[in-house]
Amino acid sequence: MAVAQFDAVAERMGLDEGLRQVLRTCKREFTVNFPVRMDNGSTRVFTGYRVHHNEARGPVKGGLRFHPSVTLDEVRALAMWMTWKCAVANLPYGGAKGGVVVDPRALSTSELETLTRRYTTEISMLIGPEKDIPAPDMGTDARVMAWIMDTYSMHHGHSVPGVVTGKPVSVGGSSGRLEATGRGILYIVQEATRYFGMPLEGATVAVQGFGNVGSVAARLLCQAGARVVAVSDSRGALHDGHGLDVDAIAEHKRAGRYLPDFHPGDHITGEEIVALPVDVLIPAALEGQIHGRNADRVAAKLIVEGANGPLTPEADRILAEKQVLVVPDILANAGGVIVSYLEWVQDLQSFFWEEDEVNQRLHRLMTRSFHDVLAASEKEGVSMREAAYMLGVSRVVEAVQARGIYP
Ligand code: NAD
Repeated sequence: MAVAQFDAVAERMGLDEGLRQVLRTCKREFTVNFPVRMDNGSTRVFTGYRVHHNEARGPVKGGLRFHPSVTLDEVRALAMWMTWKCAVANLPYGGAKGGVVVDPRALSTSELETLTRRYTTEISMLIGPEKDIPAPDMGTDARVMAWIMDTYSMHHGHSVPGVVTGKPVSVGGSSGRLEATGRGILYIVQEATRYFGMPLEGATVAVQGFGNVGSVAARLLCQAGARVVAVSDSRGALHDGHGLDVDAIAEHKRAGRYLPDFHPGDHITGEEIVALPVDVLIPAALEGQIHGRNADRVAAKLIVEGANGPLTPEADRILAEKQVLVVPDILANAGGVIVSYLEWVQDLQSFFWEEDEVNQRLHRLMTRSFHDVLAASEKEGVSMREAAYMLGVSRVVEAVQARGIYP
């Protein structure tokens, strides 16, 4: 899918065949099979990957995934998407991704730590603040990033915080990182509603998925004056036309409970949330949630993709016909990688900013990216998704051409 998407953009841009070959393939692909001593004394061999797609624009950056279904092909595709995503945000990075084939929930904490440290050691020739900077993804978190940073630092004889991002603040993490993706969604909604001439004050919003991204976006949108009238989780959805008490719902979720047990509010099904007559719909749960069978029921004017790939290509087509503005994931949920970049910059200079300063910089970078993509979409007469890919690819092409082919 990643290659097909790239080929379509390359065709539209008229890229020459040599450049297409360079960008269609990943530059470096590393597979490692490594042993881990388990708590019961047995030894298990795990498989891990780290892939660098393209480093023309700078060191590579991308998440590390611990999941039983990780494959080399998946890691390659995710690395390529990271290249375009970093370029759309105009960050000085290329794209990378890593993964270990493991179910982290089936390991004890000490097994998880041993696995992380051994994997880090195995890929240590690839990573580093000037080379490749991993970050959390599915199945990994700030604790795993701290173990990677510590392992790498032990090998170098001094602390190297800039080797990973998404770390705890106590070891060089950035304030504002946890909320960054949801906050980025707020900034995009602000710009997109302004573009429509629609006041955000009083605008109605439905948020699908009330996890890290969805709950932060919902809370910040309420604070900005919008009316969040519906939210959903994996078990159900809540609706109240007068606006939901998002803070109380977040408190309820933090206690480990689900939306069907929350009162007040009308309980609706997760499927119904997609069809509510709202101004803004934010799918922030899983991929493929809006598809050929429900896209024609969407009544929102604006969709901001919090999740990765929440719309299928069929849904994209139907929504374009309905003239719904879709702000694509590669732009809308870039807040996380942007604040990762700001974390890395703070680590390199050993000088840390207050959260306000981080948020201001995030705001500048998100709004600039939004307007860059919007301008490209208007100039080329294409959707914002196509425009974002074209912009990302063209920035990488420019860097590849400026550097030339070595030797
Ligand atoms: P999360 O696990 O914190 O939250 C996911 C939420 O979705 C949960 O509330 C879950 O109950 C809900 N959910 C699951 N299935 C659902 C369904 N069928 N209908 C409605 N809700 C459902 O995850 P997250 O970190 O908030 O990530 C959400 C999405 O955003 C993912 O696609 C992720 O790849 C993407 N994303 C996250 C970040 C980040 O910084 N966390 C950055 C970029 C992209």
